[in-house]
Amino acid sequence: MSAAQLYFDYNATTPVDPEVLKIMADVARKNFGNPSSAHCFGRPAADIVLSARQQVARLLRAETEEIYFTSGGTESDNLALKGVVLPLLLKGEKPHIIISQVEHPAILESCLFLERFGAEITRLEVAADGTLAPDQVAAAIKDETVLVSLMLANNETGVIFPLPEIAAITKARGVLLHTDAVQALGKIDIDVNELGVDMLSLSGHKIYAPKGVGALWVRDGVVIEPLLHGGGQEQGLRSGTENLHGMAALGCACEILSTGMTEEGRRIKGLRDEIESELDNALDRQLVFHGHRQLRVPNTISLSVPYVDGESLLAYLDLENIAVSAGSACSSGENQGSPVLHAMGVDAGLVQGALRISLGRWTSRAEVDTFLEKFTSIVRRLWAISPLYQKKKVSL
Ligand code: PLP
Repeated sequence: MSAAQLYFDYNATTPVDPEVLKIMADVARKNFGNPSSAHCFGRPAADIVLSARQQVARLLRAETEEIYFTSGGTESDNLALKGVVLPLLLKGEKPHIIISQVEHPAILESCLFLERFGAEITRLEVAADGTLAPDQVAAAIKDETVLVSLMLANNETGVIFPLPEIAAITKARGVLLHTDAVQALGKIDIDVNELGVDMLSLSGHKIYAPKGVGALWVRDGVVIEPLLHGGGQEQGLRSGTENLHGMAALGCACEILSTGMTEEGRRIKGLRDEIESELDNALDRQLVFHGHRQLRVPNTISLSVPYVDGESLLAYLDLENIAVSAGSACSSGENQGSPVLHAMGVDAGLVQGALRISLGRWTSRAEVDTFLEKFTSIVRRLWAISPLYQKKKVSL
């Protein structure tokens, strides 16, 4: 990243930490052995896989053997859902799955796929602040329910779902609970036993490791079917010769988080809160902030600028070398705005003006100051040429 470029899109992906990069390069350079080979090249490679698995497990307070490496969050989500549900469909059963309307496409699309083959899906609504009540889960469970899959933190708003309370319900009803923790890991402390879930997905590129590596944690005793068949790697759950340098990188990224997360979280939250309050003041309290104010991860801002199109704002910010996300998804090339904000009942005009600003490890005070200055001046310029904004000002 050049010094002039300001990155405020850490929820989309993170730069690789230099320490992670070093380990990754070392492994790629020196350890080309196949971990399955029983010779002096294979053994060190197998040691690397084991130590990476231990590092991931330590961060989650899990057992080493419960970590299964994958290619990322999407694969982990697919494996969790299809691994539980496909065998039941093959037996002719009609399994029922509960998710929320604001899950990541990796979950939503997997459910659409399973629905085509006979699974029944309940998609729970969220409240206007993006939260979900455990009672909703309790009310949706029925005899056929086999799996509840709910994200720990939302990728657009950062809102955190109450997984421990939901886990108490699923456990009592004998239903498996999976969580997509891709956006939560590294932002809040995760202890799989305190969460009470049965499976958890994570992704390397959201925690300063490279793209293309992730993991699924599966609680000991929970049996799921593999999706990739072959040489039986990853205890038979995920065949394919190991992505050695990717695994080493993910392990190292987890090790870094195991040590410095609390202090870092406080620092980022301080900057995030400051951006929100400074922008709100500087722009005459016209901004609309989305998501529960407290129950959210410390790095994420979801806001709408009234009378401004989010895509235009993003383009103007991009001209200033500032990267944010429009917080909206394109469907069939037609921008209909963020499904997450729609599900929260946000007014369609505000959805069009939505932006996601997300901070991370290298967000500095100086960057925040520049961001505040440029953002405010761009919004003021866009308001000055917005007929709707001018009309509203006259009517005030
Ligand atoms: N789940 C959530 C909540 C995400 O935010 C993402 C990525 O944006 C994914 C899953 C997919 O992860 P990956 O990009 O590693 O496939």
